[in-house]
Amino acid sequence: MIKVEIDKASGFCFGVVNAIESAERELRHADSLYCLGDIVHNSLEVQRLQSMGLCTIDHMDLQNLRNTTVLLRAHGEPPSTYSLANTNQIKIIDATCPVVLRLQKRIHKCYRDSLSNRNQIVIYGKKGHAEVNGLVGQTEGNAIVIEKLEDICKLDFSKNIDLFSQTTMPLEGFRDIEKAIKQQILCGVQFRSYDTICRQVANRLPGIKKFASEHDWIYFVAGEKSSNGKMLFKECLKANPNSVFISSSREINSGLPSNIRNVGVCGATSTPKWLMEEVAVRILELND
Ligand code: SF4
Repeated sequence: MIKVEIDKASGFCFGVVNAIESAERELRHADSLYCLGDIVHNSLEVQRLQSMGLCTIDHMDLQNLRNTTVLLRAHGEPPSTYSLANTNQIKIIDATCPVVLRLQKRIHKCYRDSLSNRNQIVIYGKKGHAEVNGLVGQTEGNAIVIEKLEDICKLDFSKNIDLFSQTTMPLEGFRDIEKAIKQQILCGVQFRSYDTICRQVANRLPGIKKFASEHDWIYFVAGEKSSNGKMLFKECLKANPNSVFISSSREINSGLPSNIRNVGVCGATSTPKWLMEEVAVRILELND
């Protein structure tokens, strides 16, 4: 008999829970609600909320809306979004994660304080990611985004540097960049680095490695757009080569090899619990 275990530590982080609860609360007394961007990087959870009246829009759509209500998701938004909403008389339900909001304020303050010194504000993150756009917006678009170690060649080591990170980037990557800048910064030039990686994600790394290594087979469940999902899945694969990335239970079409007795189901911070439960049921159905 095959055994299936769902990782208790997987699933929504509190920022995502808060955004979804804000949407559900509003939809209890409104027929529909606009959300700027996918509320969570999981298409099945988005579909569930759409069936309740949530309508995902982009920034172009926002420009054409008037006198309505729009929810801002956990990733946060740049100041220009709030100004546009104000101009178009749009009521904002702000579900920006408190951790992201604090980071935005911190970057904004650092930018204002160092304007006269023309410090370089550097953000380690994914270019074009919604959270990063919100962070860059705190610096009037002046922050330099670096995605990987090699990108530090864009920096001027004769000018002060303040380094921040997108909340969901890997800690290891941040440490490498920090170290490389320290080595190259010119004598007498100021370098300050702020580890702003959210531990809701970073702390899942050791846990998921352990979980993956304790099972014969792993189904890792996440949306294809989830950067946190991609990162955690990589760790699963390292710990257990029998790890498979899926986005829905429908992707499992056959039973497992007969030597597999012990299956683990885990996921990203954007993976709903109900989806992991569906996957567990599917595994049991196909391996009865
Ligand atoms: S990962 Fe952390 S910062 Fe990002 S939404 Fe979740 S709790 Fe907030």
